[in-house]
Amino acid sequence: MAERVLSYEQALQQVLEHAHALTPADVQERADLLAALGCVLAAPITAPRDHPSFDRSTRDGFAVRAADFNALDANRTLRLIGTLRAGESWSSLPLSAGQAIEIMTGAPLPAGADAVVMLEHVVVEGETLRLAQPRTLRIGEHVVARGAEAHSGDVLLPAGRRIGAAEIAVAASCGCAEVNVFAKPKVAIIATGDELVELAGQQPESWQIFNSNSYALAALVQQNGARPHRLPIARDNLADLRARLAAARDCDLMLFSGGVSAGKFDLVEQLLTEAGAEFSFTGAKIQPGKPIVFGRLPREQGWTYFFGLPGNPISTQVCFHLFVAPFVRALAGETEIAPRFAEAHLAEPTRANPDLTRFLPAELTSAFDDATVRLVGWQGSGDLTANARANCYCVLPLRAADFAAGETMRVLLR
Ligand code: AMP
Ligand code: MG
Repeated sequence: MAERVLSYEQALQQVLEHAHALTPADVQERADLLAALGCVLAAPITAPRDHPSFDRSTRDGFAVRAADFNALDANRTLRLIGTLRAGESWSSLPLSAGQAIEIMTGAPLPAGADAVVMLEHVVVEGETLRLAQPRTLRIGEHVVARGAEAHSGDVLLPAGRRIGAAEIAVAASCGCAEVNVFAKPKVAIIATGDELVELAGQQPESWQIFNSNSYALAALVQQNGARPHRLPIARDNLADLRARLAAARDCDLMLFSGGVSAGKFDLVEQLLTEAGAEFSFTGAKIQPGKPIVFGRLPREQGWTYFFGLPGNPISTQVCFHLFVAPFVRALAGETEIAPRFAEAHLAEPTRANPDLTRFLPAELTSAFDDATVRLVGWQGSGDLTANARANCYCVLPLRAADFAAGETMRVLLR
């Protein structure tokens, strides 16, 4: 099979093109609002009424007419005619010239008033209100007008939006105890390797290792809105690999870990080739993660996509963040899927590489007015604890000249 090794940008482009061409997830479910955290909205949430639904005071103070208030001086005062709490509405006569009504944050502006003056800006003596010091009030000051945030029927959250805390708050503000979400796609996770040992029930020999990748991948799949399906370890032989492939056939995406490098027992590409795979790429000029494979297998109707991820645990995770996460999010029905980068200043000088775009485990520390990124010391792409000390990956773009301390770098958030 012809090798197809792409730059980072080209590889991402390929993944995004296929992701955007996916037929949208169409199985919908009703979910309790909190249970929908991490799911993707299958139908928009529209405002059932204006937001806010009344002219809302945003301060504790006094509802007045701005023109009256602005005419106050040492001799002129306003007359206090009542108090309005949040949760009440003013049912007496509308406020008229020379009057003020005590009002709480969240209470509706009484008819006749057009602004709220803050408690701190006036002096109350019995039933009169006096200026604490000269000031003017705008019409509408400290009031959010009815419908200023949204009108009844407006789309507040579009279909395809993943539900986080902010979305839960919007849905709750519309009184939605349940929401329509897409069913989560099922992602097969197949770890390959003769050296691997399952977590439960077996003690590894000193030359064996626990299968940590299946768990890392399962966690990442879950974090990105899909359901992981962990299959038993596949040993490095075609019979085992074929059995796992068959068992993964009903899944929406297959993730292989390991077995995609050039070693004699790296058989995943061979397995996929014999199953009729169409490969988008068989490597990317990145580090870690160079041997990554992406493509699709024909099935009765359409395709099943797969990623072959390098087995080195940090390679596996970096490749997931770079390429798999956007694809999983698209499968889950999300519309905004591109990876997100931030910027920060490099803490220490760093060697450049002209051939590979590098994504190195790093610690991002952000102060109020600056963000610094420092590479964590590591023993290469198998160093899981170094990766756990990191909170991001610092991007070192292709370049001949080394990076100087203080340079602005892009940072892949995770
Ligand atoms: P491979 O990509 O199969 O050549 O594996 C590269 C390195 O990653 C080797 O040192 C493997 O032992 C290690 N590795 C492969 N699969 C896993 C796994 N599931 N969990 C932890 N380490 C792994
Ligand atoms: Mg292997």
